[in-house]
Amino acid sequence: MRKKSRLGIMGGTFDPIHFGHLVTAEEALVQFNLDKVLFMPTGQPARKTNRSVAPSEHRYLMTVVATASNPDFEVSRMEIDRPGLTYTIDTMRELRDQFGPRTDLYFITGADAVWEIVSWKDAQDFQGLCKFIAATRPGYDLHEPLAVEQIESKGLHVDYIEVPALAISSTGIRQRVLGRRPVRYLLPESVAAYIEKYGLYRGEGS
Ligand code: NAP
Repeated sequence: MRKKSRLGIMGGTFDPIHFGHLVTAEEALVQFNLDKVLFMPTGQPARKTNRSVAPSEHRYLMTVVATASNPDFEVSRMEIDRPGLTYTIDTMRELRDQFGPRTDLYFITGADAVWEIVSWKDAQDFQGLCKFIAATRPGYDLHEPLAVEQIESKGLHVDYIEVPALAISSTGIRQRVLGRRPVRYLLPESVAAYIEKYGLYRGEGS
């Protein structure tokens, strides 16, 4: 019988994508023996309605150029093409329908986001649909007893990976672009060139 395949889904706003995200995806691919990592830029983030996020098409295209050279990485338009606010549960249901029961789904994202999964839409339905891989930077305190208890009470499974490169953050990069400081070596040159070309993160109206 054919063995089950293992698909990683790398969820994030990617505003912009940087080396921390790419190292996280590569680390998850190897540590969890995944067949592929599908980057899933968020369409309209449900929790970010109070801050302006770069248009989804720009975030999608930056993710495409950043991952183009890696044959194990692909990028999906699923969330950016879905109308309305983006909820991860809708994505996991759609991927389950698309890939069927012979593919295990692993949703990979930042640990700060994973701590809040119990408050995400239909959180209890993640059980049986996917497992979670939470990426942290070294030294991050994983001992949040209440969060762990709540996550486990929903029957959800979370594994953790430490990624030193996650000292890089999208917020830090946006601030550097705004302050005209260098971003070289924090993200792929192709993404830096894209940001420059379209004048992203330069302030009001950019
Ligand atoms: P966030 O709150 O902006 O990020 C939390 C932390 O995680 C930040 O330090 C962030 O760093 C990091 N991070 C984000 N994505 C990452 C990734 N793929 N790998 C490693 N670190 C990552 O998180 P977000 O981007 O809005 O949401 C993360 C994912 O959770 C998205 O797929 C989103 O759609 C999903 N989500 C779903 C719901 C829901 O269904 N109700 C609610 C919230 C989030 P950077 O800023 O440098 O990326």
